[in-house]
Amino acid sequence: MKIQEADAKTLLVAQGLPVPDWEVAHTVPEARAAAERILAGGASAVVIKAQVLVGGRGKAGGVKLASNPDEAEKVAAAILGMDIKGITVRKVLVAAAADIAREFYMSAVLDRAERRILLMGSAEGGVEIEQVAESNPEAIVRIHADPLLGLRDWQAREMAFRLGLGGHLKAAVAVAKGLVKTMLAYDADLVEINPLAVVREGPAGGAEERLVCLDAKITLDDSALFRHPDHEVLRDPDDEAPADAEARRHDISFIHLDGTIGCMVNGAGLAMTTMDLVKRAGGEPANFLDIGGGAKADRVAAAMRLILAEPKVEAILVNIFGGITRGDEVAHGLIEARSRQSRDVPMVVRIVGTNAEEAARLLEEAHFATADSLDEAAAKAVAAARSARGAA
Ligand code: GDP
Ligand code: MN
Repeated sequence: MKIQEADAKTLLVAQGLPVPDWEVAHTVPEARAAAERILAGGASAVVIKAQVLVGGRGKAGGVKLASNPDEAEKVAAAILGMDIKGITVRKVLVAAAADIAREFYMSAVLDRAERRILLMGSAEGGVEIEQVAESNPEAIVRIHADPLLGLRDWQAREMAFRLGLGGHLKAAVAVAKGLVKTMLAYDADLVEINPLAVVREGPAGGAEERLVCLDAKITLDDSALFRHPDHEVLRDPDDEAPADAEARRHDISFIHLDGTIGCMVNGAGLAMTTMDLVKRAGGEPANFLDIGGGAKADRVAAAMRLILAEPKVEAILVNIFGGITRGDEVAHGLIEARSRQSRDVPMVVRIVGTNAEEAARLLEEAHFATADSLDEAAAKAVAAARSARGAA
């Protein structure tokens, strides 16, 4: 799960990293008021930044400076509502504009192959790291943290020196260690600062220099979200397709595919097998869908809605192996779902295991097409899709 810059910065601050103060504004007047406060506090200009979950906002015109409230209002009006890579900007971050002397890149990322946290740094800050990796791979410094001992002080110092941050050794070491600490504290798989900037501070762009995190990108490990219930509010609705959100709400594993046979199955392994058999019968699965163990009628109905939301679906194959999941519960869910279903799609149901007899009776009463074996069910579903297409 990706989170917004402002939320990522809140997490960084909580871990003691140096981040300049900011405010978040949802409207132009709010942005203007924030700019007025910041300018009254002594800043000579403000920076206004689009809060959207895509990189390269600067290049897209989503990061702009303003030196007075009127200008801030104009800039905020231009950025709010702007479309950046298909996403509408609904809020902006407002902060005192930094007087940047040099820009660096530093990140902590999960290196799955090495099973370690990898600290990456580059003196080419402000540029996307993928670009640096392509054009100048030697410019990227990579240091693995020890899984037990973490990032050692000497490793953090090595990173600082290799980036040319020897003049800001203490601060750079604190940032390097802080990134790893942030990653562990929140179960993140990426904590990226780009730019990590040396900025001039003090009166009239004075002589004082400080190392600060000007941008922040954090992605949280979805599988660890249950350990951080407070992070759920950080989820950005633009980051997730509506179908994916619906599936998550109902605890359904759902992956959209390109075929025409909708599949509803319990258990990931059985779902994969079902897809294979659909293919063997000459069809193409429209989705992977695992309703999980012990699914009740409402979850079955939700799964049906997810499948039918795809207009390409011509037939549905339901394959349930009742263990903890009760066949009659599934049958009730199917009957209810079909009664509400807006379009008529042929459905073939195979239910075996717990309460299969009761399920069979219910389905027969409701005139569902059923099958005894999975092969037969797959063949019937593919045939039904063919004749649906023929009729259309
Ligand atoms: P991104 O393009 O989405 O990565 O957004 P960033 O927050 O990294 O901003 C892009 C670029 O805008 C940075 O690399 C900086 O060069 C510039 N920038 C961001 N904040 C400031 C600021 O406060 N002052 C100045 N002068 N430039 C800034
Ligand atoms: Mn950036």
